[in-house]
Amino acid sequence: MERNLTTRELHVTRKKMWDASMANHAKYINSETQLFDTKYTTDRNCPVCNSSNKRDLFTKSGGVYVACNSCDMVFLSPVFKDEYLEEYYRTNHDVQSEIVEQDNEFYRNLYEKGLTLATKHLPAKGKVLDVGCSAGAFLDIAMRNDWKTYGLELNAKEAIHSRKKGHTVFENTIHKANLSETFDLVTLWDVFEHISDGISFLNSTKKLLRDGGLVFIQSPTKDSLAAKMLQEKCNMFDGLEHVNLYGLDSMKKLAEVTGFELIAYETVISEIGVMNNHLNYEDPYLGNVKEKKGLLGVIDENWLHANHLGYKFQLCLRLVSK
Ligand SMILES: [Zn+2]
Repeated sequence: MERNLTTRELHVTRKKMWDASMANHAKYINSETQLFDTKYTTDRNCPVCNSSNKRDLFTKSGGVYVACNSCDMVFLSPVFKDEYLEEYYRTNHDVQSEIVEQDNEFYRNLYEKGLTLATKHLPAKGKVLDVGCSAGAFLDIAMRNDWKTYGLELNAKEAIHSRKKGHTVFENTIHKANLSETFDLVTLWDVFEHISDGISFLNSTKKLLRDGGLVFIQSPTKDSLAAKMLQEKCNMFDGLEHVNLYGLDSMKKLAEVTGFELIAYETVISEIGVMNNHLNYEDPYLGNVKEKKGLLGVIDENWLHANHLGYKFQLCLRLVSK
């Protein structure tokens, strides 16, 4: 029987995944610098505005997070070269799939909220393509809501699992996918922060969208209060996979340069419990502070999201010009 995991149980599970991921990181670390060995990585400019003017923020598990001095984007530089990142994902896969299998109420609520947001901005329901659909947990919900469901998934096992539930799944990347279909909606659930070249990704997405179609993105954001407060202690910064952490301004800019318009932006997940643990000098994710609703008696969940300070954003980009 399925039961709802408490937030702490979720964090304990994630901690196990995290430790397994970190063990996988270790083989890429240079023992002298304690950073990823430079043979695996490459330096880069800001992925949003291409400025080379950046400042170091902190290191995390071998990776260096920097901020752009021109547009405030936060990103990894150096970043893993594509060939090594692929190798990393292949070996790390078992760790990843366990997370996705957690088809629980916490994720379902987020999927439903995001789908409602996107549907509100479309004339009708139609065809949805989920990029990195894993075992199809989001597509299940879309199907139940009368969408025709499609997915892109590189992992063969997960693609098969997803197909068994009636979804059409292509084992390809968006760049290589040569689909005859066009879609009303393309979704990315906690995927966009893994993509190093967001501009090239959005440009490739255009050919898959019908006129006026939408891209929906959920991603952790560097604008969140938890990220700003916890900095390197925040799980958002993993040093390797989360290569780009956007905020409202950087997503607006990215939309502008790729021919999209940002038409909706909300935040989800308060992380108030995590911040309260941190403020009580406990481990943010494993601490035991009971208060989850309010922060310092002044900030509550509603205020946090009204000010776009939640942990992840959910946004919609509308295609303006191909
Ligand atoms: Zn920039």
